[in-house]
Amino acid sequence: MENIYLSETENSLAPTIEPTIKVEDDRTGMSPKALKRAFFDNLFFLQGTNRADASLYDYYVALAYTIRDRLLLRFLKTVDTYKTEQGKLVCYLSAEFLMGRHLGNNLVNLGIYDEVRQVIEELGLDFDEILEQEPDPGLGNGGLGRLAACFLDSLASLEIPAIGYGIRYEFGIFHQMLKNGWQAEIPDNWLRFGNPWELPRPDETVEIKLGGFTELYHDDKGNTKVNWVPERIVLAIPHDTPVPGYKTNTVNPLRLWKAEASEAFNFDAFNSGQYDQAVAEKMDAETISKVLYPNDNTPAGRELRLAQQYFFVCASLQDLIRLHLKTNKSLDNFYERFSIQLNDTHPAVAIAELMRLLVDENGLTWEQAWSITQKTFAYTNHTLMPEALERWPASLFGKLLPRHLEIIYLINHHFLEDVRIWFPDQEELVSKLSIIEEVRGEKLIRMANLACVGSHSINGVAALHTELLKKDTLREFALLWPKKFFNKTNGVTPRRWILLSNPKLSQLISEKIGDNWLKDLSEMRQLEAYIDDPEFCTRWRNIKQENKQNLAAYILKTRNIEVDVNSIFDVQVKRIHEYKRQHLAVLHIIALYNRIKQNPNVEIVPKTFIFGGKAAPGYFMAKLIIKLVNSVAEIVNKDPDVAGRIKVVFLPNFNVSLGQRIYPAADLSEQVSTAGKEASGTGNMKFAMNGALTIGTLDGANIEIREEAGAENFFLFGLTAEEVYAKKAEGYNPMDYYTHNRELKGVIDRIKSGYFSYGDPDLFKPIVDSLLNNDQYMLLADFQSYIDCQEKVSQAYKDQEQWTRMSILNSTRMAKFSSDRTIREYCNEIWKVSPVKIQLED
Ligand SMILES: *Cc1c(COP(=O)(O)O)cnc(C)c1O
Repeated sequence: MENIYLSETENSLAPTIEPTIKVEDDRTGMSPKALKRAFFDNLFFLQGTNRADASLYDYYVALAYTIRDRLLLRFLKTVDTYKTEQGKLVCYLSAEFLMGRHLGNNLVNLGIYDEVRQVIEELGLDFDEILEQEPDPGLGNGGLGRLAACFLDSLASLEIPAIGYGIRYEFGIFHQMLKNGWQAEIPDNWLRFGNPWELPRPDETVEIKLGGFTELYHDDKGNTKVNWVPERIVLAIPHDTPVPGYKTNTVNPLRLWKAEASEAFNFDAFNSGQYDQAVAEKMDAETISKVLYPNDNTPAGRELRLAQQYFFVCASLQDLIRLHLKTNKSLDNFYERFSIQLNDTHPAVAIAELMRLLVDENGLTWEQAWSITQKTFAYTNHTLMPEALERWPASLFGKLLPRHLEIIYLINHHFLEDVRIWFPDQEELVSKLSIIEEVRGEKLIRMANLACVGSHSINGVAALHTELLKKDTLREFALLWPKKFFNKTNGVTPRRWILLSNPKLSQLISEKIGDNWLKDLSEMRQLEAYIDDPEFCTRWRNIKQENKQNLAAYILKTRNIEVDVNSIFDVQVKRIHEYKRQHLAVLHIIALYNRIKQNPNVEIVPKTFIFGGKAAPGYFMAKLIIKLVNSVAEIVNKDPDVAGRIKVVFLPNFNVSLGQRIYPAADLSEQVSTAGKEASGTGNMKFAMNGALTIGTLDGANIEIREEAGAENFFLFGLTAEEVYAKKAEGYNPMDYYTHNRELKGVIDRIKSGYFSYGDPDLFKPIVDSLLNNDQYMLLADFQSYIDCQEKVSQAYKDQEQWTRMSILNSTRMAKFSSDRTIREYCNEIWKVSPVKIQLED
């Protein structure tokens, strides 16, 4: 076979291409020959280069297209099946999808990871280095966005007809750097070099109206109707990313919308000579999908953020209605074809938008439309903290969405009318249920209330969280509709978070029990048969050690800090938030440091404290906590008295890719939020699956992790949610703890003195003051319990055999936290949807 675009050296580098096999007839084959041929085809025809000049990035793109090509047939068959079959489709609406890199995961799910690695290595290329070229798509802030990504993996792996809808942010979550110990934010221009995974579908563009006013008119039957006259129209262009299931034919779409100016709308301005006006409007329109708001658990409250929410919701619902009307005469049975899940209240305006589409644009009566709407939507709540619940000023809302404001008032009117019939003379209850809240004369729209009223299902994300929702945050709704409430404890996909992240452990597991655990994580229990097998335990321990060595090399390379791989890797990686209490871990580090300073010969089990996580750019205290970690690190790491017994490392830019390095290398997982504040957590699950032991409070899914792993395999400390509540009620005074606990006082005083801030007592004053005067998150109340628990950790680690047994049991007992289990529950109890096999041959 003559290969005109490879240099002669290249031809000689591909000795396995046998001229007798016509690889050109096998364009998307999985054989090494077909893969190699496709890889070089793509390098030449798509990147316009060859081996003599190709960069690592060129190789990445060539390989990405090679793999995308191998998803396309299944992707098109899957989408075609959903267009023609009348089964139910799950629509997951989420403002965030924190997907992580696609290439490695797609290889895993296609079941060709090892084969492709071998092909690439036979070409003399570094496979891992090529995977590292892919920009990490960071279209999410943290747990909520990553949950959406795990759910998409499980939906496709369980062959559930599903589509994810979201926003194609041009800039994802910022890239975090450290400057003098402070967080600095760099824009995440992830699309700069293109994105081989997305397929733009401009022919399926939809129009989005914004602003303007409404007017009444009479239709030809004499009915009074409402017309929305928008101020402007923007276009939503769908970009589809194929999401393959693990070893299934299902490849579901993730459809992300990009905002663009409508040409027609600008035409007048262009023609009347207002060129710059037209250009300004074009840029304005594109602003909508420009950047992800970097807030986690605190709403931004900006008009642009509301525009983003409405933009993707409106586009997605129009998309579904168009799809529906292709094979159905009317929208009466819309809810039988689609189950729409609202990932938090970010897409909750969908409830008003579906009402508008059904009533104003498709001529249904209000009653018909309301019945369809309620049967279509289900709402997932992600927080208990009242300040984190989204509320939009009605004035701002009405400016952007005048018709939706009217619809929400009308929904609320009908709803409260019913409430007053069911509960006469209970105006306090009525005001708590109302979608509208009045604060000092200003009307606010409570998006959680809208979501509750417009949905048939409301769920929390861990058992405790759901209980507290019913008891507290959504108490009145639970009294009204107890049967609407469900618990759906979160989960994570074992494909990305074990197989891809921890290949050595995965290899060991599969060697012992086969590889079906990746489809059914409960099979991991079979490993417990080896718990007394010293050879197995040694291998388990050695794999953890190798993972720690890899992370240590990364720490040395990126931070120039040497860490002891025989020390306990004590890890806290997650968004920085006061309720997550990264600073509680800092207090513990300073306590150890003080012990060493008092007695340099004190026995301390060596620990390496590893932190990672981004702070919202406007969240002052979170940024100061990062600075505190780095300031403590600077002093502790270089103090000769410490003699390497403790090290502190902050790894910048924690994201999915960094998570994949870190979770498998942890000995100890820090899950130390104030009880009752963390809805679920999912990092806790990733750590435990990879054999870390947890030190944690009875919060979120920690409770269930402890139940599954066994209390004896979990380091528990701190107040319970009930105790936190009771303490607050009786009047909590953190000063009592400060004055009565000598060690605690020593720790706080060390910070106060300016010891970690070059003598400046003001730098960390906001943290000290917050702890001493208010301590909303009760660090001081939990301090002693935490310190004592850390001492138990140290003692336990000395018995390596026992520690390894505990590590194994944590990992083998995490089946409940596979997102496959979570998705099965959503399917059976909320969505009522069943798997559909995708047929590749007709
Ligand atoms: C899993 C994950 C999270 C969530 O971590 P929690 O500890 O549950 O808060 C956040 N960010 C990234 C990148 C993750 O992978």
